[in-house]
Amino acid sequence: MSRILIIEDEEAIADLEKDYLELSEFEVEIENTGDKGLARALSEDFDLIILDLMLPGVDGFEVCRRIRETKDIPILMVSAKKEDIDKIRGLGLGADDYITKPFSPSELVARVKAHMARYHRLVGSQAQTNEIVEIRGIRIDKTARRVTIDGEEKTFTTKEFDLLTFLAEHPNHVFTKEELFREIWDMDSIGDIATVTVHIKKIREKIEFDTAKPQYIETIWGVGYRFKV
Ligand code: CA
Repeated sequence: MSRILIIEDEEAIADLEKDYLELSEFEVEIENTGDKGLARALSEDFDLIILDLMLPGVDGFEVCRRIRETKDIPILMVSAKKEDIDKIRGLGLGADDYITKPFSPSELVARVKAHMARYHRLVGSQAQTNEIVEIRGIRIDKTARRVTIDGEEKTFTTKEFDLLTFLAEHPNHVFTKEELFREIWDMDSIGDIATVTVHIKKIREKIEFDTAKPQYIETIWGVGYRFKV
């Protein structure tokens, strides 16, 4: 269920907004000061914020600006004065929409739904652009840096992940230990080509059914390693 945070000091208005949004199956929380609203907006996961402009303490301008520093969720700003809306626009605070009081609850719900749908489409399309490398049961999500073997998630250290990904992205290519060390480790990092051997061993323990007969990372004696396809 999508969660909405209403930051509004007028209790009657906040309650009315909450009632209508709950009828549309949204989960709604209310905070009545800028400070409390901002704290919750930053520390919790909401899908949309309805933000009143005139608030005691930290005002809506500041709350909007601070949320935008770290979050891209839709923010609907509400104000009693038409001039304020022009001011908000002029300041470029990053609010997604502006509504002037008084507004009809159904208009608010319609706008909330539209912004929510657009936001979820955006987030969804970002998820689909994750770069995936997939070879025989191994699925490497380069964006999320997650690896699953036959659907089971395995944890890798940063260098193990980088090494596995590099090999999997160059299937059947034989790399020497020197080449792998240069590729994955900085030249000035502590360690030597023995580090590569140690990491290959650890990766195999996680991905191979039988480490004595590796199905994925093959040792080419006297040369190095390759990822078999
Ligand atoms: Ca107010």
